[in-house]
Amino acid sequence: MAAIKRRDTQPEMRLRRALHATGFRFRLDRRDLPGSPDIVLPKYRTAIFVHGCFWHRHNCRFFKWPKTRAEFWREKLNGNVERDRRTMRSLRRLGWQVLVIWECELRENASSSSTLSCIFASLHSAKTS
Ligand SMILES: [Zn+2]
Repeated sequence: MAAIKRRDTQPEMRLRRALHATGFRFRLDRRDLPGSPDIVLPKYRTAIFVHGCFWHRHNCRFFKWPKTRAEFWREKLNGNVERDRRTMRSLRRLGWQVLVIWECELRENASSSSTLSCIFASLHSAKTS
């Protein structure tokens, strides 16, 4: 999974810039945490994943099952979703708040600003250490 994961996608960059501009400090790719979350805010004990709609099988208009190698893709993508579930469980068990943001939610300006306000709200309500 790590090898095919795209780095620095535009939606993720947009989120990082917005967090930074709002004064949130974060770290990237904490490999010592389950699933190496894309963005980690230690102060808020919050881990953020920016999920690509295709790779994580989002139920949205950007996801379509590939027409070729159907069996391969079904196994691969269902495996990703299953791994995501396990990752979140482990992180929550370790006391982390986990936010999953879909790329499509950050794609358009209108939806991305409401996505961002939700993220900020969750961070503000998170217990700070
Ligand atoms: Zn989506």
